[in-house]
Amino acid sequence: MSFDARVPPGPIDRKWTLCKNDLKLVSPTNKRKYDIIVVGTGLAGASAAASLAELGYNVKAFCFQDSGRRAHSIAAQGGINAAKNYQNDGDSVGRLFYDTIKGGDFRARESNVYRLAEVSASIIDQCVAQGVPFAREYGGTLANRTFGGVLVSRTFYARGQTGQQLLLGAYSSMARQIKKGKIKMYPRQEMLDLVVIDGVARGIITRDLVNGELQKHEGHAVLLCTGGYSNVFYLSTNAKGCNTTAIWRAYKRGAYFANPCFTQIHPTSIPVHGDYQSKLTLMSESLRNDGRVWVPKKKQDTRPAHAIPVEERDYYLERKYPTYGNMVPRDVASRNAKIVCDEGYGVGPTGQAVYLDFEDAIKRDGKEVIRQKYGNLFHMYEKITGENPYRAPMKIFPAPHYTMGGLWVDYHLESNLPGLFVLGEANFSDHGANRLGASALMQGLADGYFVIPYTLGNHLATAKLDKVTTHHPAFEEALNAVRGTIDRLLRINGTRSVESYHRELGRIMWNHCGMSRSESGLKDAIEKIRALREDFWKNVKVLGSHAEFNQDLERAGRLADFFELGELMCRDALDRKESCGGHFREESQTEENEAKRDDANYCYVSAWEYQGDNQVPKLHKEALNFEAVHLTQRSYK
Ligand SMILES: Cc1cc2nc3c(=O)[nH]c(=O)nc-3n(C[C@H](O)[C@H](O)[C@H](O)COP(=O)(O)OP(=O)(O)OC[C@H]3O[C@@H](n4cnc5c(N)ncnc54)[C@H](O)[C@@H]3O)c2cc1C
Repeated sequence: MSFDARVPPGPIDRKWTLCKNDLKLVSPTNKRKYDIIVVGTGLAGASAAASLAELGYNVKAFCFQDSGRRAHSIAAQGGINAAKNYQNDGDSVGRLFYDTIKGGDFRARESNVYRLAEVSASIIDQCVAQGVPFAREYGGTLANRTFGGVLVSRTFYARGQTGQQLLLGAYSSMARQIKKGKIKMYPRQEMLDLVVIDGVARGIITRDLVNGELQKHEGHAVLLCTGGYSNVFYLSTNAKGCNTTAIWRAYKRGAYFANPCFTQIHPTSIPVHGDYQSKLTLMSESLRNDGRVWVPKKKQDTRPAHAIPVEERDYYLERKYPTYGNMVPRDVASRNAKIVCDEGYGVGPTGQAVYLDFEDAIKRDGKEVIRQKYGNLFHMYEKITGENPYRAPMKIFPAPHYTMGGLWVDYHLESNLPGLFVLGEANFSDHGANRLGASALMQGLADGYFVIPYTLGNHLATAKLDKVTTHHPAFEEALNAVRGTIDRLLRINGTRSVESYHRELGRIMWNHCGMSRSESGLKDAIEKIRALREDFWKNVKVLGSHAEFNQDLERAGRLADFFELGELMCRDALDRKESCGGHFREESQTEENEAKRDDANYCYVSAWEYQGDNQVPKLHKEALNFEAVHLTQRSYK
């Protein structure tokens, strides 16, 4: 099986150009002979589907929502990065590249990250041409703001609804192709298996979520654009439907899973408020442009925020990181919030929160300016907490938010299984051990609009793809496997709800594979997950039947995959004895509690190969070679 990252030769700033020059093309008349399966219609999937259909391919697009427009991407609030340097504040492709590599704590593939920075400016042009209403300055030029881990303003935004507006742009392009007959849209269909024939991805098995019918779909290539897996933690900022099933089932068919333990805990979520909560709400990182983070200097201080004088407040990020202040990257901000709360300085009824305060910004700029920038976020906060953030500081706490890990892909975004491409949050590609804010939307759209249209053509033009139909035995075998799992789940008829198992798995993951990890904790977690999983397969009660709209059954199938993924995440975290980015191994920290990398031993991508149920997966290592940047200990002081 291929495990070659296919990084093109040449200097870093020429690699993509040289690669494109070498890629084989499919002629315009031949493109219509190819059927491409795109699973997922978030920003990565919608942009890919629209671009490929525009080129002339026949696209079949799948999503589990009732409309492609409801993909989780719609929730993205803060913005999208691009090295346009509109602010004339020193930005460049090179700087965006460096910030992203450093932000990821030097655990991403250099060549992919450079390409991301290189195409970033084109994304903005494309979206503006589609009519995406980015915020503008008084004179009409596009406005920018700053996100964490950088010293320039390069984040384009549409109030606090950037994802929604970008998705409307991509979805409109898709809808145009649906109308033209080049995209066939399959909403409310869940991919439950990948079909591999002679080592090449050639199709998928789906379940119609409305009537339960299992379907077989063949294609010349399969693109998985199925988003992230933060819901393994149960409580996360992701949409409730986000799950790992598509990539997990592909992993079980032979695709390598890379860096599964690299997860991002976002510093500014509304804190957990009770045992029965099922969802966490993000307060966008953009708020840290104007909001100041602080806790009282006195432990267990129960005075309301306004009664605590300034000299009795600890603006700990500004104190510890004078250069970046409140705009340190997410992993650093989250870890510091945990430290102050663990030490007893946390606020609110649980002591598991810190303040994000706009008092100074409102005094400086006026309420109206703040309302214009963040009005919908403030409104959302007030609706959920009953507190008015114009008057009292927000209370925030870190929460699972994004997964940097995902299926392993090479420079072409192709997995080790030929014909299986993975885009957006579902792949591991560009963010290393910590993603910088506003870089996920950039990556999803870079993959879909500007990378896959080239690299997919090369695969189709060079691979020998015999005609296959859904009558091939591999389709039957996969369909029977899916049916078997569904029947097994429904047959258990135990006593415990799917939700309660998920909640318990989430707690194990959060406690042992969350913001900090240790050898003993991870070993303990693996035992606990195995025991819980065994119990699940004996005692879960899945309501209803297969041949109907049955969300309990959907959730049970996804949870079965989360159990296995959770174990792999712990195994990966156990293997990586260094700390890097969001992966904080307690055994590996500096005297100032910062993440301490071990480049001599861990400068690699972990790519795990499935070996069978209950077998220990095999670890492959892709060495990370840095030619354009020097490895340094990250500092944001
Ligand atoms: C609250 C929040 C705010 C954010 N704000 C920002 C921001 O401001 N800037 C930024 O850069 N990033 C932000 N992010 C991250 C960013 O939104 C996501 O990383 C990005 O939108 C993921 O896009 P995607 O296309 O990869 O996947 P998604 O948008 O998650 O789409 C996944 C698609 O796959 C489909 N799918 C999944 N599994 C299956 C299956 N088995 N069968 C069929 N279909 C399937 C779904 O139906 C959906 O269409 C935010 C994230 C959150 C949680």
